[in-house]
Amino acid sequence: MPRQPFVCGNWKMFTRAHSAKDLAAAVAAGVTDDRVRVAVCPPYPYLAMVAEVLRGTRVELGAQNLYPAREGAFTGEVSPEMLQDIGCRFAIVGHSERRHGLGEKDAFINRKVRAALDAGLGVVFCIGETLEERQSGQTHSILTTQLVEGLQGIQAAELPRIVVAYEPCWAIGTGQNATPEQAEEAHAYVRGLCRQYFGDAAAERLIIQYGGSVNPQNAAAILSEPDVDGALVGGASLHAEKFLAIVAAARNS
Ligand code: PEP
Repeated sequence: MPRQPFVCGNWKMFTRAHSAKDLAAAVAAGVTDDRVRVAVCPPYPYLAMVAEVLRGTRVELGAQNLYPAREGAFTGEVSPEMLQDIGCRFAIVGHSERRHGLGEKDAFINRKVRAALDAGLGVVFCIGETLEERQSGQTHSILTTQLVEGLQGIQAAELPRIVVAYEPCWAIGTGQNATPEQAEEAHAYVRGLCRQYFGDAAAERLIIQYGGSVNPQNAAAILSEPDVDGALVGGASLHAEKFLAIVAAARNS
């Protein structure tokens, strides 16, 4: 069965209440069929408000992060149960801005994956190498470590609730996207790893998004690669027209 493409907007720490509402409404108005799974991930303070805007539409709500505990004395943190409660379907985990900017390690990321699944949330699980790692020929070993450690203890039966986002750090927010060939090579490698750890059937069904400076100009070529099943979009997801053009490219891929 063909994999349903999944395009997800990561709004990062952008928008204000009013613009978040407008952006969500504009995206929802442009998604009129289910050929592509579409989601947006607003900042925490706007999640509940955007959930209301998206109610009854085809666009899903996701969170950009979570803390791996049900509740407790964790000042400033947000639990997966809370995200579930307000209508999130999944959370992004392992984003490179958290790995490298905030020092999150694979073991902690693994706890987040576990906590999300236990709370009934899906996961967009991000992995990717730095420029230095790519240039020194370590891309495959980095992807292996991040995938194997981040998904440790996850069963093949749980893999359908996980989406892997391959996001080379050097392509995120830089305007320098991976070429379609570079993306396909990495995606095929990741799918091969999943075959090894989770079996053929689960790996074949796995959605692997590409993320890193995806825009309306480069989306079609990247998304037409056989192992690229969608996109995690940062900057371009802040503009409804650009984001919807990427969704359209995914629909035609
Ligand atoms: C991201 O935030 O995951 C991302 C890929 O950002 P951008 O599209 O801006 O590179």
